[in-house]
Amino acid sequence: MEYRELGRTGLHVSRLCFGALTMGPLQRGLSPQQGSNVLRRAFELGVNFVDTAELYRTYEHIRLALQDYESDRPIVVTTKSYAYTREGMLRSVEQAKEGLGSNCLLLFMLHEQESSHTLRGHWPALEVLWEAKKAGIVQAVGISTHFVEGVTAASEIPEIDIISPLINRTGIGIQGGNREDMIRAIERAAGLGKGIIAMKPLGGGHLLADWASSLEYLLDKEEIHSIAVGMKTVDEVENNVAFFQGRRDLPAPQVTTRRLHIDDWCIGCGACVRACPNGALELENGKARVVTREKCVFCGYCGASCPEFAIKVI
Ligand code: SF4
Ligand code: SF4
Repeated sequence: MEYRELGRTGLHVSRLCFGALTMGPLQRGLSPQQGSNVLRRAFELGVNFVDTAELYRTYEHIRLALQDYESDRPIVVTTKSYAYTREGMLRSVEQAKEGLGSNCLLLFMLHEQESSHTLRGHWPALEVLWEAKKAGIVQAVGISTHFVEGVTAASEIPEIDIISPLINRTGIGIQGGNREDMIRAIERAAGLGKGIIAMKPLGGGHLLADWASSLEYLLDKEEIHSIAVGMKTVDEVENNVAFFQGRRDLPAPQVTTRRLHIDDWCIGCGACVRACPNGALELENGKARVVTREKCVFCGYCGASCPEFAIKVI
């Protein structure tokens, strides 16, 4: 496994980062024990970097995998919270510490930032993260974003250590610009010393048929230090590790057709429409509906926001 220094954090992380959204309740729904088995296999094969979020509800999966795990190379876990107040972020940091346990190095990001405006709106939460870094509770502070402007804005803040931008070969899901705009923003951020963790390398599954060329596209980019790939089975872990180690004779993963399912009991509250970062949903005749299938990267954020549990990725 190849390891890269994550910007100027001093941390060395595997180029393959274990994306934990896919195995959790928003997607495949593995139990904590099942998920921890998949993660443990990744650790055994040299993956030392895990990407999660408070929203993904996978802390328990990760904590179990970390339990009694011993290695010379520390496991680094990056998580994210939507908190924008001081109190909210204090709760989020506490929840992550308790939920993940102490057998990892913790990185913390603001989830889903769009621009300098949203960053300003989250300043009290950012201050909590910087204090947590000073206290040695978190090792690095950053943001995740689907927006080109999110990367640009975070680059201007010296105290932001890491950025997790949405980037993939076709540019699916990128907001406020195209693939080249995002690459330029990432290059600049990396040049300023930010650690870069690419997310949605396979466009939420849309690019699975071109799995190899999609991963190669990102692996070729020096400015991308690690690539978060969602994994939910031991086979996927072994295939991805082999690919990242240079094997190019592997079969593409099975392409499973995914879609959004909206139940009849949707009350049309619009929470999912507001939660979708990609503008893939709208309200019609008092119900949510998908506007454009191609815009959906199956992140599951709409499902997490629904008070009626009426929308999910299946
Ligand atoms: S529709 Fe739902 S799953 Fe699709 S991109 Fe929007 S929030 Fe994510
Ligand atoms: S959040 Fe749930 S109930 Fe509200 S519009 Fe969306 S699917 Fe319907």
